[in-house]
Amino acid sequence: MKVALIAHDKKKNNMIELAKKYKDVLSLHKVYATGTTGTLVKGATGLDIICLKSGPLGGDQQIGSMIADSSLDLVIFLRDPLTSQPHEPDISALLRLCDVTNTPLATNEASATIMLDALKENRIPCKKID
Ligand code: PGA
Repeated sequence: MKVALIAHDKKKNNMIELAKKYKDVLSLHKVYATGTTGTLVKGATGLDIICLKSGPLGGDQQIGSMIADSSLDLVIFLRDPLTSQPHEPDISALLRLCDVTNTPLATNEASATIMLDALKENRIPCKKID
């Protein structure tokens, strides 16, 4: 399965904690992340993460492109709903593409936890192609 991790700056620590908690399950899958998120999670957990560009520099669009190609099975995007982001159009496009392609998307820790539990229990259908 292919998983994407993205966290806005104020949510990066939350993503690190989540990745630590689910390190065992994440280590069984191919994990992609936007640049800063991926670097921080990798450093904190030792997980083998494929780091794309930083979100504001095109990383969200790179993940969006993977979603459009149906090559991701699930996306965890811990958004900061209280801070405006310079790359808001890229974020909206990514979220929209998840809906277009029916890709599972969690945008907060509560839903991410449910999704990672489902991943752990093999309850996320692998329907994506390379
Ligand atoms: P980052 O990007 O992981 O490079 O900080 C996340 C984002 O803001 O989209």
